[in-house]
Amino acid sequence: MPRKPVLSPSRIRIYLLCEVKYYHTYLNPRGRFYLRAKPEYSFGTTMHAVLQHLHAAGGVEAVSVEQLQQAMQQQWVAAGYQSPQEEQRYQQMAAALIEQYHARAQEALQETPPEQRPRLLMQERTLRMDMGRFTLVGRVDRVDEHPDGTLEIIDYKSWRTEVTPEEVHDDLAMCCYQLLLKHLYPDRRVVATIVALQTGASASASLTDAELREFREDIRLLGEEIVSRDFEYLEPKRIPHCDVCDFLPLCQRIWQQQGES
Ligand code: SF4
Repeated sequence: MPRKPVLSPSRIRIYLLCEVKYYHTYLNPRGRFYLRAKPEYSFGTTMHAVLQHLHAAGGVEAVSVEQLQQAMQQQWVAAGYQSPQEEQRYQQMAAALIEQYHARAQEALQETPPEQRPRLLMQERTLRMDMGRFTLVGRVDRVDEHPDGTLEIIDYKSWRTEVTPEEVHDDLAMCCYQLLLKHLYPDRRVVATIVALQTGASASASLTDAELREFREDIRLLGEEIVSRDFEYLEPKRIPHCDVCDFLPLCQRIWQQQGES
């Protein structure tokens, strides 16, 4: 039996952005030669690993800010930085964000009576759901369980400074995570929260059952379109994202052959 195709929020987002990029990223074996490490990705990976370490070890009650800074040094992903100076700037930023995160978490802990505190249910877990012709997967950063039984999906955004409930409500990945978690825990209330690590701002939203049903159907139709698509004969079309796309050299070659600039 051939394995069922897998679709994640990242894959779907890339498909919606540019089908040619989707082909080079996930289907073209030569595509990986063009992928470049980027400081912002490495930085995000480090921040996620540090916060995972913090919450797995028992939170701010158990881990001091100094220990967390040490964990950051150990978990540091060095790929993609253009110079030692650039890397150092990013390390300083990471240290500042970690200090702020720790202080805010400590404050929140003091303000919340013990009986109202959530407990960590899972971290960096890949959730799956059979959607017929494909499997939907999504990796959640963290899920907390509140005393009233509500499950809160928490997604860290390393570069964001602000976020609104409307943005969380309309975010493709957050909708996928809610669908996947609700599939695992159908009787629980599920809430999604994005934390903007640059400022500590956060916002939450929750899809209603009717919205979840509609979203599930939309994802099913879109996923079926993606997995049945013939990607071999796509023609690249210029979009604003081309300027920062790793596959620009491949597409430029085609445009040059077609006599475009
Ligand atoms: S360069 Fe532009 S057209 Fe080509 S894959 Fe990237 S985004 Fe798509």
